[in-house]
Amino acid sequence: MAQINKHYTEIKENYLFSDIAKRTAAYTAAHPEADIIRMGIGDVTLPLCDAVIQALHAAVDEMSRQESFHGYGPEQGYEFLKDAICDYYAKRNISILADEVFISDGAKSDLGNILDIFSTDNTVMVTDPVYPVYVDTNIMAGRKIIYAPANEANGFLPMPDESIDCDLIYLCSPNNPTGAAYTAAQLQVWVDYAKKHDSVILFDAAYEAFITDGKAARSIYEAEGAKDCAIEFCSFSKTAGFTGTRCGYTIVPLTLVRDQKPLQPFWLRRQTTKFNGVPYIVQRAAAAVFSEEGARQIRDNLDYYRENARTITDTLDDLGIWYTGGVHSPYIWLKCPNGMGSWEFFDFLLEKANVVGTPGEGFGECGKGYFRLTAFSSHEKTKEAMRRLKNVFQK
Ligand code: PLP
Repeated sequence: MAQINKHYTEIKENYLFSDIAKRTAAYTAAHPEADIIRMGIGDVTLPLCDAVIQALHAAVDEMSRQESFHGYGPEQGYEFLKDAICDYYAKRNISILADEVFISDGAKSDLGNILDIFSTDNTVMVTDPVYPVYVDTNIMAGRKIIYAPANEANGFLPMPDESIDCDLIYLCSPNNPTGAAYTAAQLQVWVDYAKKHDSVILFDAAYEAFITDGKAARSIYEAEGAKDCAIEFCSFSKTAGFTGTRCGYTIVPLTLVRDQKPLQPFWLRRQTTKFNGVPYIVQRAAAAVFSEEGARQIRDNLDYYRENARTITDTLDDLGIWYTGGVHSPYIWLKCPNGMGSWEFFDFLLEKANVVGTPGEGFGECGKGYFRLTAFSSHEKTKEAMRRLKNVFQK
């Protein structure tokens, strides 16, 4: 008889977004006149920038001609894109070799797939609240998970506990859902811990492009010695609106060695065995993000979202509501006013302001009493939602 992977039965059902949809639908059915504003969306809303569209069109045309047609490409990605990524890091004084870069169809796949090269005996550490992918992919494999609490006291940026031994450490900065971002000095403490404990840090930098100043770190490799203990995951999804186009990349340094084995050849082997690469046209589109025009255009889009984030944080400042995020991140993580629970605040906001957000407890125990708003809506809707919030709380 075919045996199933029983660990799948141990994954907790995540009803967060379906519960949000259900409660919103019930409210709109009872109040059809309500003009609901959705501030819980984690997806981008602006279209792809012109440089990316032009690169896509040109690549499609190439595919129509015999002499420039592309079939299977290199599993690790085309040199032109890997080189552009190395240059992107070089501009920040980080040296990455083309062989250390792996192009993929997005960060989510790589974050899950990387586990193929690690033993299921490893103990895993995630922060709480957490992007659920880190948890579910490890439960699927039967690994033990330790939660590092993120809270107001540590600014939602947990630091290592020397008394606890973790083999795989997930860090996401700027963080989803809290928007909190580590400095290079804080990441250095994590890197020092990882080197001492022979752990590997899995660093999710999906939101690095939102970082506005030199205070927060945009890469784990800003910490000294990180190339000996960390794998970095990044994505064009939030940087350049590729959530539906699909492209990301993972850096596996050649100097990262565990059990006397370098990990880069393991990951290369895993990818060449189970993955056949990202479409040529998508990689051309991704490369356009690094062109002068592309970089300027995506900066304009990011600025658009940043302005929304500022509209939200200004309102919370005015109302004296505690929050983190919103500066280096499209996410604003606020403390539910008047001691309300996450779901209580969800219902309150829906009813009193017709605004929908995301209850923090959907991301973990430590999210109880917190709430996530996102900056991915339009200026008009964000402003209107904040006007309503002021109206409700200034009364
Ligand atoms: N990592 C984090 C923290 C995310 O929030 C997301 C998407 O929301 C991803 C990774 C997934 O990125 P991608 O679209 O590249 O798969």
